[in-house]
Amino acid sequence: MSSPSTSVSRSTFDEVMVPNYVPGAIVPVRGQGSRIWDQDDKEYIDFACGIAVTVLGHCHPKLVAALTEQGNKLWHLSNVVTNEPALRLASKLTEKTFAERVFFANSGGEANEAAFKLARRYGNTRAEGKNEIISFHNAFHGRTLFTVSVGGQAKYTQGFEPIPGGITHLPFNDVAALEAAISDKTCAVVMEPLQGEGGILPATAEFARAARELCNKHDALLVYDEVQTGMGRTGELYAYMGLGVTPDILTTAKGLGGGFPIGAMLTTKAIADYLPFGTHGSTYGGNPLGCAVAEAVLDTVSEPAVLEGVQVRAEKIRARLDALGERYGVFGPTRGLGLLIGAPMSEAWKGRAKEIVNAGWKHGVWCLVAGPDVLRIAPSLIIPEAELELGLERLEAAVAELCA
Ligand SMILES: *Cc1c(COP(=O)(O)O)cnc(C)c1O
Repeated sequence: MSSPSTSVSRSTFDEVMVPNYVPGAIVPVRGQGSRIWDQDDKEYIDFACGIAVTVLGHCHPKLVAALTEQGNKLWHLSNVVTNEPALRLASKLTEKTFAERVFFANSGGEANEAAFKLARRYGNTRAEGKNEIISFHNAFHGRTLFTVSVGGQAKYTQGFEPIPGGITHLPFNDVAALEAAISDKTCAVVMEPLQGEGGILPATAEFARAARELCNKHDALLVYDEVQTGMGRTGELYAYMGLGVTPDILTTAKGLGGGFPIGAMLTTKAIADYLPFGTHGSTYGGNPLGCAVAEAVLDTVSEPAVLEGVQVRAEKIRARLDALGERYGVFGPTRGLGLLIGAPMSEAWKGRAKEIVNAGWKHGVWCLVAGPDVLRIAPSLIIPEAELELGLERLEAAVAELCA
């Protein structure tokens, strides 16, 4: 008789799990670099990174070393006392960014929850009724009730009413709409420098600048959700650095832990003072194990060779995808920043991005969608040449078969 751990399979999911996900047909069991293997030992090239998370691939030796070293030392304390890995990670994050203060959470949604609560408290403290949040259509900020409400996709709030009020959604990259809506009642403008889940849509430089200026004019906080764009994904440590606009609050998660769940909210000292003792908290936030891993991720991603390699890989992938999309008429031209790449479906393929992902699985490459109309590629920042080539070949074979 096989033990329960070896006899589980994809069908077990439907018997024991809440049906809010519909996972793919195979169950991966191990990974190394940019390759993963399923229960039948079939190999896949990873162009997905667990949704733009595993920025250094699977089982990177430096991350495994950090995890095991800390794992043998100290896992958890709570925030009743502080710990060395959290203090080191916060020091490095403040050295490398605009920020002077850090709050640790365990996910992107939690980092955003902290950011939005801080923005509300900042506004309410400074002026009566200054608590309105402006965010954008198709934005994604997480799945807590507050973060889905600030997010700009109605499908994620439907059925969860009543939802928190005081939130206005505007079209993204529309300077005139923002100018018309912002006022002294606004406490925050929340945006992704590049909308990820919404379809790989970068903010224009003009819009980013206007949002910064309008926030200054109305004493509103500019909040950058860099949960997906952060930690080297765009070729900068954080995307704001490439835009030339500095936010007041920045949230980071996904790539930060390289696969270990951790999130953080970064801000200035003056703004951080609006969250004094007792106003917010988390049991696990800043736990030594997560912070030790994230410190190793930050150290490694910050190496110039890693950040420089992002652009080289991105150009190669985009040229190949553009050629592939044109040849078969499925998608194109690609868009995005660094290794966060979107291929919008052609007219004939509207709504069918998922079919390409499924065909990719069959051919041994794992890609993502960003909504029904965009194929998303988000490989490891250090994916080796051979894996990159093989993944592109497999994706090409998948598209060729679909179009045959
Ligand atoms: C993934 C994502 C989130 C949510 O992060 P979780 O870790 O799933 O809570 C928030 N914002 C953006 C931009 C994201 O891509």
